[in-house]
Amino acid sequence: MADYEVPKLNGEGYVEIPTIKPDAMAGKGPFIAKPDFQKALHFPADFQTDEQGKFELVADWKERALTKLDDLRHRYRSLQLYLDICVKCGACTDKCHYYIGTHDPKNMPVARQDLLRKVYRRYFTFAGKHFPKLVGAVDLTEEVVDDWYNYYHQCSQCRRCSVYCPYGIDTAEVSMAAREILDHIGRGSKYNNEIISKVFKVGNNLGLPQPALADTLEGLEEDVEADTGIKVRFPLDEEGAEVLLVTPSADFFAEPHVDGLMGYAKVFHEAGITWTLSSYASEGANFGMFIGSYENMRRIALRIREAAIKLKVKRIVFGECGHAWRVAYSFLNTLAGPFDFLDPKYPVPQHILEVTWGLIQDGKLVIDKSQNDDKVLTFHDSCNVARGSRMGNKPGGQFEYPRNVIKAVCNHFVDMPADTIHDATYCCGGGGGLLTDDLMELRIKGAQPRMEALKYVTEQQGVTHMAAICAICKSQFTKVIPYYGFKMEQIVSVHQLVSKALVLQRQVSVQARPDEDDDDDDNDDA
Ligand code: SF4
Ligand code: SF4
Repeated sequence: MADYEVPKLNGEGYVEIPTIKPDAMAGKGPFIAKPDFQKALHFPADFQTDEQGKFELVADWKERALTKLDDLRHRYRSLQLYLDICVKCGACTDKCHYYIGTHDPKNMPVARQDLLRKVYRRYFTFAGKHFPKLVGAVDLTEEVVDDWYNYYHQCSQCRRCSVYCPYGIDTAEVSMAAREILDHIGRGSKYNNEIISKVFKVGNNLGLPQPALADTLEGLEEDVEADTGIKVRFPLDEEGAEVLLVTPSADFFAEPHVDGLMGYAKVFHEAGITWTLSSYASEGANFGMFIGSYENMRRIALRIREAAIKLKVKRIVFGECGHAWRVAYSFLNTLAGPFDFLDPKYPVPQHILEVTWGLIQDGKLVIDKSQNDDKVLTFHDSCNVARGSRMGNKPGGQFEYPRNVIKAVCNHFVDMPADTIHDATYCCGGGGGLLTDDLMELRIKGAQPRMEALKYVTEQQGVTHMAAICAICKSQFTKVIPYYGFKMEQIVSVHQLVSKALVLQRQVSVQARPDEDDDDDDNDDA
């Protein structure tokens, strides 16, 4: 493990509000995207590196930035409102995990918003134009752009601060707007924009092409068969299946994500539901949201629609991914609808937990909870699920469904302290497009509040494992919890627990292999 300053945990289950360390995280933004990646996302790419190898800004950057800000405040009335109505009450200041972990005052939500607000005031308000000092308005300079880049990439867009703001100001939306402006002046983040360009080129964040994906899925079929003696299918591009499963590509190989994918496959198998993945839309994640780009978010979402039409499915089900579920639940119909070609009996889209919980309630799955008796579970609510979506289309369903499923497949479950779960949940520290190694220091420090809560239930209630339903949370936790003295194996997928406890009774898959179909056809012809 690389050497980082790791915050000390007090073991009391609450975080101590730190004294401030001005500029503690100045200049610690992520790597900048090269012009090629900007071009793929339809952003301006007319910028180069200077003699020191530092990326310059695009030509006319100031004018372009202000034009974009003007465009966004008119396009999104919420943004205009958020820029105008903050009364500096301070209720949000200590609610951000990045301020708590880094002590940098610019990571206080109100201060983060002010980086953009000060410029908005200078160019778009009467007082700011004529009496800038009186209202804290500042000119847009390259130093201001540097601060935007650093601190809007130290916000995971988790929306925790908005829960405590008496006006409901959503800093995540301000961060998204700032990133959209930055992308238009040559300051895109390499991590996010490279990933989005891979989706457009290959279909998923990892750049995993169809043959490699097919191989991986075949390997998983063999693993499950070796383990259970039963052939559970992992179908790819199979036309006419009932369900199109859209899941984060990390589910195809990362640990513990892949154990969750095995769980989805077993649930479909046991319930007799035919399903398929799509190599064209082999990605549930939608990083277009992280960079605040409606256009790119829509381009990614449309791939799912195209795949669903091509494969003639009746339902779309999303796997365990936090922001993917927010985009799906809150925006999919707007971005890529109408979905009137799907079976109207089912919601569009559905979460895999809704499917599994429905089957458990209907008595369609046989469960042996004792298979998970080696664990005492707790559950991490992912920000985008908790504060940006629902399940079962009812308020609070997003908190109930994962816990209901965990309790249905495990005998031992306890929640972490109340001010760290449900809509008060803390971010894992790696969400919002920050899950990159160039931000490791931020990720470790940002995980502090969640680690504090985990340590508390570990010591007080014997918790051994923490389950999550987000690919980013799982990747972030497995990487950072060793810095806090935990083991990476302590992070599990919820459907990994389902997979372990589910008793497979159906010996034969309802879904024949396409080559087996071909054989049958040959026989018939003969
Ligand atoms: S949205 Fe989350 S990460 Fe961003 S300022 Fe608010 S609490 Fe911090
Ligand atoms: S809680 Fe809301 S109104 Fe108060 S300082 Fe924070 S953003 Fe401004």
